[in-house]
Amino acid sequence: MNTIQIGGLVSFTTIDYPGKLACVIFLVGCPIRCAYCSNPHLIPVGSGEYDPEKVFDWLKSRKGKLEAVVFSGGEALMQGEPLFEYMRRVRELGFSIGLHTNGFYPENLSAASPFVDWIGIDYKATETNYEKLTGVNIAYERMIKSLDVWAKTGKPAEVRTTVDPRYVSPDDLLKIAHDVAARGFKKFAVQKYVPHFEDTEHGTTPAMRNAFFNDEKLQGEINSLFETVTWRE
Ligand code: SF4
Repeated sequence: MNTIQIGGLVSFTTIDYPGKLACVIFLVGCPIRCAYCSNPHLIPVGSGEYDPEKVFDWLKSRKGKLEAVVFSGGEALMQGEPLFEYMRRVRELGFSIGLHTNGFYPENLSAASPFVDWIGIDYKATETNYEKLTGVNIAYERMIKSLDVWAKTGKPAEVRTTVDPRYVSPDDLLKIAHDVAARGFKKFAVQKYVPHFEDTEHGTTPAMRNAFFNDEKLQGEINSLFETVTWRE
Protein backbone atom coordinates (compact mmCIF):
# COMPACT_ATOMS: atom_id res chain seq x y z
CA MET A 1 0.00 0.00 0.00
CA ASN A 2 1.83 3.14 -1.11
CA THR A 3 -0.96 5.63 -0.82
CA ILE A 4 -3.52 6.27 1.86
CA GLN A 5 -6.93 4.58 1.70
CA ILE A 6 -9.70 7.09 2.34
CA GLY A 7 -13.19 5.79 3.14
CA GLY A 8 -15.00 9.02 4.02
CA LEU A 9 -14.81 12.79 4.21
CA VAL A 10 -16.66 15.41 6.24
CA SER A 11 -16.04 18.69 4.45
CA PHE A 12 -16.78 21.04 7.34
CA THR A 13 -16.92 20.67 11.11
CA THR A 14 -16.52 22.94 14.12
CA ILE A 15 -16.33 20.16 16.71
CA ASP A 16 -13.53 17.85 15.60
CA TYR A 17 -10.52 20.13 16.18
CA PRO A 18 -10.68 22.43 19.20
CA GLY A 19 -11.21 26.06 18.20
CA LYS A 20 -10.64 25.54 14.47
CA LEU A 21 -12.79 25.14 11.39
CA ALA A 22 -11.84 21.76 10.03
CA CYS A 23 -12.62 18.90 7.73
CA VAL A 24 -12.26 15.22 8.65
CA ILE A 25 -10.70 12.54 6.48
CA PHE A 26 -11.68 8.99 7.49
CA LEU A 27 -9.14 6.29 6.72
CA VAL A 28 -10.14 2.65 6.37
CA GLY A 29 -8.86 -0.19 8.55
CA CYS A 30 -8.89 -0.76 12.29
CA PRO A 31 -7.00 -3.39 14.31
CA ILE A 32 -9.57 -3.66 17.09
CA ARG A 33 -13.28 -4.43 17.30
CA CYS A 34 -15.06 -2.21 19.77
CA ALA A 35 -18.43 -3.53 20.85
CA TYR A 36 -19.99 -0.12 20.20
CA CYS A 37 -18.24 0.74 16.94
CA SER A 38 -20.11 3.45 15.04
CA ASN A 39 -17.96 3.11 11.91
CA PRO A 40 -18.00 -0.63 11.13
CA HIS A 41 -17.99 0.12 7.40
CA LEU A 42 -14.52 1.62 7.84
CA ILE A 43 -13.00 -1.40 9.58
CA PRO A 44 -12.22 -3.64 6.58
CA VAL A 45 -8.96 -2.77 4.89
CA GLY A 46 -9.37 -2.38 1.15
CA SER A 47 -9.37 0.26 -1.48
CA GLY A 48 -10.61 3.56 -0.21
CA GLU A 49 -13.47 5.12 -2.12
CA TYR A 50 -11.76 8.48 -2.48
CA ASP A 51 -8.75 9.30 -4.61
CA PRO A 52 -6.19 10.80 -2.18
CA GLU A 53 -4.80 13.15 -4.85
CA LYS A 54 -8.28 14.48 -5.65
CA VAL A 55 -8.83 15.04 -1.94
CA PHE A 56 -5.45 16.82 -1.80
CA ASP A 57 -6.48 19.09 -4.68
CA TRP A 58 -9.73 19.82 -2.90
CA LEU A 59 -7.78 20.68 0.27
CA LYS A 60 -5.74 23.19 -1.74
CA SER A 61 -9.04 24.86 -2.70
CA ARG A 62 -9.99 25.09 1.01
CA LYS A 63 -6.93 27.16 1.97
CA GLY A 64 -8.14 30.29 3.74
CA LYS A 65 -11.54 28.69 4.40
CA LEU A 66 -10.57 25.81 6.67
CA GLU A 67 -7.90 25.93 9.38
CA ALA A 68 -7.35 22.27 10.20
CA VAL A 69 -7.52 18.80 8.70
CA VAL A 70 -8.35 15.93 11.05
CA PHE A 71 -7.42 12.34 10.23
CA SER A 72 -9.81 9.79 11.72
CA GLY A 73 -10.97 6.25 11.07
CA GLY A 74 -11.06 3.37 11.51
CA GLU A 75 -7.57 3.82 12.88
CA ALA A 76 -5.64 6.20 10.65
CA LEU A 77 -2.22 5.27 12.05
CA MET A 78 -2.67 1.74 10.71
CA GLN A 79 -1.63 3.15 7.32
CA GLY A 80 1.87 4.07 8.47
CA GLU A 81 4.38 5.71 6.13
CA PRO A 82 1.95 6.84 3.38
CA LEU A 83 -0.11 8.61 6.04
CA PHE A 84 2.91 10.41 7.52
CA GLU A 85 3.85 11.66 4.04
CA TYR A 86 0.27 12.76 3.29
CA MET A 87 0.05 14.61 6.61
CA ARG A 88 3.37 16.30 5.89
CA ARG A 89 2.08 17.55 2.53
CA VAL A 90 -1.24 18.72 3.97
CA ARG A 91 0.57 20.54 6.77
CA GLU A 92 2.76 22.27 4.19
CA LEU A 93 -0.42 23.76 2.74
CA GLY A 94 -0.76 25.63 6.03
CA PHE A 95 -3.38 23.52 7.82
CA SER A 96 -3.09 22.38 11.41
CA ILE A 97 -3.21 18.60 11.59
CA GLY A 98 -5.44 16.74 14.02
CA LEU A 99 -5.60 13.01 14.62
CA HIS A 100 -8.28 10.87 16.25
CA THR A 101 -6.67 7.64 17.40
CA ASN A 102 -7.36 4.58 19.51
CA GLY A 103 -3.69 4.46 20.51
CA PHE A 104 -3.00 1.01 19.07
CA TYR A 105 0.18 2.09 17.24
CA PRO A 106 2.52 3.94 19.62
CA GLU A 107 5.48 3.62 17.21
CA ASN A 108 3.45 5.13 14.37
CA LEU A 109 2.18 7.87 16.64
CA SER A 110 5.77 8.72 17.46
CA ALA A 111 6.70 8.73 13.75
CA ALA A 112 3.68 10.91 12.87
CA SER A 113 4.14 13.33 15.76
CA PRO A 114 6.27 15.88 13.83
CA PHE A 115 3.32 16.38 11.46
CA VAL A 116 0.47 16.31 14.00
CA ASP A 117 -0.52 19.34 16.10
CA TRP A 118 -3.28 17.87 18.27
CA ILE A 119 -4.74 14.45 19.02
CA GLY A 120 -7.96 13.10 20.46
CA ILE A 121 -7.09 9.71 21.94
CA ASP A 122 -9.41 7.05 23.35
CA TYR A 123 -8.93 5.52 26.79
CA LYS A 124 -11.79 3.11 26.43
CA ALA A 125 -11.92 1.25 29.74
CA THR A 126 -9.81 0.08 32.65
CA GLU A 127 -7.27 -2.65 31.95
CA THR A 128 -9.68 -5.29 33.31
CA ASN A 129 -12.31 -4.59 30.65
CA TYR A 130 -10.18 -3.46 27.72
CA GLU A 131 -9.95 -6.80 26.00
CA LYS A 132 -13.63 -7.54 26.58
CA LEU A 133 -14.55 -4.23 24.92
CA THR A 134 -12.04 -4.23 22.06
CA GLY A 135 -11.56 -7.94 21.41
CA VAL A 136 -7.77 -7.55 21.47
CA ASN A 137 -5.61 -8.41 24.46
CA ILE A 138 -2.72 -6.02 23.76
CA ALA A 139 -4.91 -2.98 23.08
CA TYR A 140 -4.63 -1.58 26.62
CA GLU A 141 -0.86 -1.68 26.90
CA ARG A 142 -0.47 -0.14 23.44
CA MET A 143 -2.88 2.68 24.26
CA ILE A 144 -0.95 3.42 27.48
CA LYS A 145 2.31 3.52 25.49
CA SER A 146 0.68 5.95 23.05
CA LEU A 147 -0.38 8.23 25.88
CA ASP A 148 3.19 8.33 27.13
CA VAL A 149 4.57 8.89 23.62
CA TRP A 150 2.27 11.87 23.12
CA ALA A 151 2.79 13.32 26.61
CA LYS A 152 6.52 13.55 25.79
CA THR A 153 5.81 15.72 22.73
CA GLY A 154 4.27 18.42 24.94
CA LYS A 155 1.61 19.00 22.27
CA PRO A 156 -2.08 19.37 23.17
CA ALA A 157 -4.47 16.44 23.38
CA GLU A 158 -7.88 15.42 24.57
CA VAL A 159 -8.17 11.99 26.17
CA ARG A 160 -11.65 10.54 25.75
CA THR A 161 -13.68 7.84 27.41
CA THR A 162 -17.00 6.73 26.01
CA VAL A 163 -18.99 5.53 28.98
CA ASP A 164 -20.70 2.39 27.76
CA PRO A 165 -22.19 1.03 31.01
CA ARG A 166 -21.50 -2.53 29.90
CA TYR A 167 -17.75 -1.88 30.10
CA VAL A 168 -17.22 1.26 32.21
CA SER A 169 -18.63 1.85 35.70
CA PRO A 170 -18.53 5.19 37.54
CA ASP A 171 -15.65 3.82 39.67
CA ASP A 172 -13.82 2.79 36.49
CA LEU A 173 -14.27 6.26 35.07
CA LEU A 174 -12.75 7.79 38.18
CA LYS A 175 -9.77 5.41 37.98
CA ILE A 176 -9.27 6.26 34.31
CA ALA A 177 -9.45 10.00 35.02
CA HIS A 178 -6.85 9.73 37.78
CA ASP A 179 -4.52 7.78 35.50
CA VAL A 180 -4.92 10.27 32.64
CA ALA A 181 -4.23 13.21 34.97
CA ALA A 182 -1.19 11.45 36.47
CA ARG A 183 0.24 11.09 32.96
CA GLY A 184 0.17 14.87 32.58
CA PHE A 185 -2.89 15.42 30.38
CA LYS A 186 -4.89 18.59 30.95
CA LYS A 187 -8.02 17.89 28.93
CA PHE A 188 -10.39 14.98 29.38
CA ALA A 189 -13.73 14.20 27.76
CA VAL A 190 -16.48 11.87 28.90
CA GLN A 191 -18.68 10.80 26.00
CA LYS A 192 -22.14 9.38 26.40
CA TYR A 193 -22.69 5.97 24.89
CA VAL A 194 -25.45 6.12 22.29
CA PRO A 195 -26.47 2.83 20.66
CA HIS A 196 -25.99 3.29 16.93
CA PHE A 197 -28.41 0.69 15.79
CA GLU A 198 -31.99 1.55 16.59
CA ASP A 199 -33.19 -2.00 16.99
CA THR A 200 -31.18 -2.70 20.11
CA GLU A 201 -29.91 -0.94 23.22
CA HIS A 202 -27.37 -3.73 23.81
CA GLY A 203 -28.70 -4.44 27.28
CA THR A 204 -28.38 -0.85 28.42
CA THR A 205 -31.14 1.57 29.38
CA PRO A 206 -31.28 5.36 29.09
CA ALA A 207 -31.02 5.55 32.89
CA MET A 208 -27.79 3.52 32.85
CA ARG A 209 -26.36 5.63 30.04
CA ASN A 210 -27.31 8.91 31.73
CA ALA A 211 -26.07 7.95 35.19
CA PHE A 212 -22.57 9.38 34.65
CA PHE A 213 -24.04 12.72 33.64
CA ASN A 214 -26.37 13.00 36.63
CA ASP A 215 -23.73 12.19 39.26
CA GLU A 216 -22.56 15.54 40.63
CA LYS A 217 -20.06 14.00 43.05
CA LEU A 218 -18.37 12.02 40.29
CA GLN A 219 -18.35 15.01 37.98
CA GLY A 220 -16.91 17.30 40.66
CA GLU A 221 -14.10 14.87 41.46
CA ILE A 222 -13.17 14.39 37.82
CA ASN A 223 -13.45 18.09 36.99
CA SER A 224 -10.99 18.86 39.80
CA LEU A 225 -8.27 16.76 38.11
CA PHE A 226 -8.06 18.69 34.83
CA GLU A 227 -7.99 22.15 33.31
CA THR A 228 -10.94 21.17 31.14
CA VAL A 229 -13.38 18.28 31.23
CA THR A 230 -16.01 18.04 28.52
CA TRP A 231 -19.13 16.08 29.39
CA ARG A 232 -20.37 15.20 25.95
CA GLU A 233 -23.99 14.08 26.09
S1 SF4 B 1 -11.40 2.08 17.35
FE1 SF4 B 1 -13.10 3.17 16.38
S2 SF4 B 1 -13.24 2.32 14.30
FE2 SF4 B 1 -12.01 0.90 15.51
S3 SF4 B 1 -13.49 -0.61 16.24
FE3 SF4 B 1 -13.27 0.93 17.84
S4 SF4 B 1 -14.92 2.43 17.47
FE4 SF4 B 1 -14.67 1.17 15.58
